[in-house]
Amino acid sequence: MSDVKQILQTIKPAVRELRAYSLSLDRASVKINQNENPWDLPVRVKNETLRRLEAKKWSRYPDFVAASLQDCLASFASWKAGGVVAGNGSNELIQALLMVTVATNKCVLISEPTFALYRQVTTVLGGRVISVPLTSTFGFDLPALRAAIQDTKPDIVILCSPNNPTGSLIDDTDLWQLLRATNGLVVVDEAYHEFAEHSVVPLLEEFPNLIVLRTFSKAMGLAAMRIGYLLGAPQLVTEIRKAVLPYNLNVFSQTVAEVAVEMYEGELLPLVKTIITERERLFAELRAIEGLDPIASKANFMIVRTVVEPRKLFGELLVRDILVRDVSGYPMLKDYFRFNVGTPEENNRLVQALNEIMCKQ
Ligand code: PMP
Repeated sequence: MSDVKQILQTIKPAVRELRAYSLSLDRASVKINQNENPWDLPVRVKNETLRRLEAKKWSRYPDFVAASLQDCLASFASWKAGGVVAGNGSNELIQALLMVTVATNKCVLISEPTFALYRQVTTVLGGRVISVPLTSTFGFDLPALRAAIQDTKPDIVILCSPNNPTGSLIDDTDLWQLLRATNGLVVVDEAYHEFAEHSVVPLLEEFPNLIVLRTFSKAMGLAAMRIGYLLGAPQLVTEIRKAVLPYNLNVFSQTVAEVAVEMYEGELLPLVKTIITERERLFAELRAIEGLDPIASKANFMIVRTVVEPRKLFGELLVRDILVRDVSGYPMLKDYFRFNVGTPEENNRLVQALNEIMCKQ
């Protein structure tokens, strides 16, 4: 029998070197660390979902592919019905997309700091990550991205817009240039697009190499239900579907997603608008606190530069029952923490706590 050390040799070296993607287990009543919708799903959406679920047979498998939901998502996003895949969270679709594209030595170009999963999954699959830093003001560095495309000929470019964790949005004309500059795919992760009131979906018609990812975990208030979707050229989507497992979406998630789409304008959009207004209020109020420098964001979260060490600030907030995200381990973000916009009451508590903490310095 070999020892564990020897057995570990069966794991790819690139995977052994990876730091696991993880989250702190701390709890607090003001939970603003995961970019979720701070309000629960509106009760009318819940009730309508339960009513429809009651009429379904729970003993039967859900649809082999979530066809009815995919049709509903196509019209919600104004895209072709054959060009949509629904997934168990957009995480599953990031994985499926990379599974059908990445192999040993294939290059994936990303702009960091960004969502950690792109690097994680690419590395696990044996691909090579090429990373172009954001500019010093956290914008997408178009000349550097173009140069990287020319030098490394990446198979895939992944841009998160608005970018997690910085809130930066890529300009349509910049994206247009990148789409034309590469022979590979360009994936735009629009997990937070509702808060930017902007989408790149209109570019799909012109660019068959564009793929758009979206989620129900943020503006749609459904992180617990694990629903995401991918939009792209139908022929491309047919290939990506091959890496998605059958019955990937349970009947509960399929049903609630359809109801949330139907009721979006009346029930969820007003919450999104409030989050946008609160984001701007928080930006102004945090800017007025000495020792803090918030970075303007187009998402439902923002990063803030702090003169207090981020780990210490995290602890001080946690003592006050507020849980934020310590992002100081990300490239370029040594002096920063991130929080998402909460309810107006939660936001007041955050501002008050930060005032207290910074005054003590
Ligand atoms: N993309 C980005 C940019 C995200 O921030 C997240 C969640 N934090 C996801 C994708 C994954 O979302 P989901 O819950 O749909 O898997």
